[in-house]
This record gives sequence, structure tokens and C-alpha cells, in this order.
Amino acid sequence: MFDHLERTRLAATPTALEPGPVIGAGAQLWIKRDDLTGLGGGGNKARKLEFLCGDAVARGSRALVTVGAAQSNHCRMTAAAGAALGLEVHLVLSGDEPPVAHGNQLLSQLFGAQLHFTGAAESHWGELEIAREALTAELHADGLAPYSMPIGGSTAIGAVGYALGFVELLEQCAERRIEPRAVVVTSSSGGSHAGLLAGRAALAALGSAVPDVLAIGVAKGVNAGLPDVVELGNAVLDLMELHDTRIDPDDVEVDTRWIGEDYAIPTVAGDAAVRWAAEQGGWLLDRTYSGKGLSGVLGLAAEGRFGHGDDVVFIHTGGWPALFAPGGVPG
Ligand SMILES: *Cc1c(COP(=O)(O)O)cnc(C)c1O
Repeated sequence: MFDHLERTRLAATPTALEPGPVIGAGAQLWIKRDDLTGLGGGGNKARKLEFLCGDAVARGSRALVTVGAAQSNHCRMTAAAGAALGLEVHLVLSGDEPPVAHGNQLLSQLFGAQLHFTGAAESHWGELEIAREALTAELHADGLAPYSMPIGGSTAIGAVGYALGFVELLEQCAERRIEPRAVVVTSSSGGSHAGLLAGRAALAALGSAVPDVLAIGVAKGVNAGLPDVVELGNAVLDLMELHDTRIDPDDVEVDTRWIGEDYAIPTVAGDAAVRWAAEQGGWLLDRTYSGKGLSGVLGLAAEGRFGHGDDVVFIHTGGWPALFAPGGVPG
């Protein structure tokens, strides 16, 4: 289903599936360690970048362009991918250039990427996309054949990485003889969610028992220029040449109750989850993504969504470098 697709090896996979604490009414939490994909400090974007960069290299691109919030993990991992592959990297970021770079920005610079600050407010994704298009046109005129990726790398080609990730996860569950009730992922641009749903639909079509895929939404209105999750997941299935397998819209569940005020504005529950994970298992979550995501898992467990003896997998999407940005650690 994947072998015909261009791919660069950038991620250290399979990532570990670790048992965590018992939560809620007695559900067993499992942590899928996609924070440990290796590339430039790791995180979920490494799986997408394997296919995105495979496509870029196949097209003869000499530069990667992408876009993100000031502390974008996707931008940081794109910078690392460019370093690994010998490609120029340009990052379009929200906000103004700070006097000193921290966290993901510091690492992106260390990987040799050029940072372009737009002055855009943190969640003004449309403004960022316009700036990306302008920069892409410039680099094109310079003859670099730029490979330009939207926010989060959430094209169908990128999301293929998470269809493969879902297959990997279900193989690990089979080895451990567990049949999880749910797989929960922190969702922002929706590519990881769409890819997981595509992998789920593909395995279900082969007759496998598959868990629910549940997204905890941490951003509003990211969709600027992006297809919705069903459309994106179906495009992934098309790339896998499974044209008769489709995502059932009823299987798309995005729980948006854990965002709080907005993207990147910390919540009390998210901060509590960051501390809980650090103390329970030495797991490093962040306040923008994985902390809010886990707060959703714990909140759902407390509401009784998962029963006694259920296995629940939380995909740890990473984000630790943001802990080293100003305000990165809950006070
Ligand atoms: C990008 C990111 C997400 C969200 O993934 P999407 O595919 O954009 O929805 C979740 N957690 C972390 C740490 C991320 O960097």
C-alpha cells in the first residue's frame, strides 16, 4: 500500500509503545512514542516529512519552504530534514524576530534554516499562507524549484506517514495482544488525524478489528487552504491506491473542548497534564499541543468514555523544544 510512494528515511520507526498509568475508571493508558522519531529532536512531523521530502527529492527541488507559528515543531523538523538531505530551508513564521531565538526557533537556526518573520498574530494562518506563496514564487524565480508545504505539512502526501503509522501501531498492539478501545491524537492542521483515519479504513477493509480514532483539537480554523479531514483522508487512500475504500464521516471525531481560549494559550487542564506526565513517567509534553491533547484523554477518562480494562493509546506527538521558549513551562 506504500511501497510505490517516494520516501526518504528520516524517522526512527517503529517508535516504542509503552504502558502508562491506569486512568479514569480503570483504563490502561499506552503511550506511542512519536516524540522519539529522532529527526531534529523528534515529533509527529518526521513521519510526514519522510513522504513530503521523498516527493521533493523526486521532483528535483533544491529548497524546502514551509510555514508555522512562532514555536512551530513542523518548521524545526523541516529544517532538520533539509540539513539531512542537503536542501535549502525557508521558514515563514508568525510574530516578529525576537532579540534572541529560543526553543524551536533556536534549533531551526542551528539546522541552518532561514527564518522569515511575518509579524502575523499567532493563529492568523491565512496571513502566513499568503506570505508562504510570495516567498515560494521568489525562490521559484531564483531557479530553486522550491517544494512548498502548507502548515503542519498536512497534504495527502504528508498524511500518508500517519496511515503507515497506524498500521505500525496496530502491529505492535497485536504483538502485545491488546485491542485498544481508542487511539487518541492531538490535532492541529489535521494531517495526522486524516492519515490515522486512512490507515484505519484500509485495515478495516481488510477485515481487521480497528479502534476508534479520536482527535483532541488544539487549534481553531487552521483549515486555511486545507481540505477537511474526510477529504484529506480519502486523498491519502487514493495515494495508497485504495480507491474503493472511503472514510466514513461518522468516524471523524474532533473533540474541541480542550483548546481553552485559543491555539497556544495555555489551559489549566493542559498544564496539569504536562506536570502529570512529567511526574508519572518522565514524559515531556508541551503547553500548546501534547499537554492539551493528554488533558483531553484524562478528561474523557474522567467522564467515563473509557471503561475498566479498556486499553487507550495516546500518540505522543512531541513538542518538548517549546519548553525552552519563554513561558514554555507551566508556572
Ligand atoms: C503539529 C503537531 C501536532 C498536530 O499535528 P497535525 O498533523 O498538524 O494535526 C500535535 N502535536 C505536536 C507536538 C505537533 O508539533
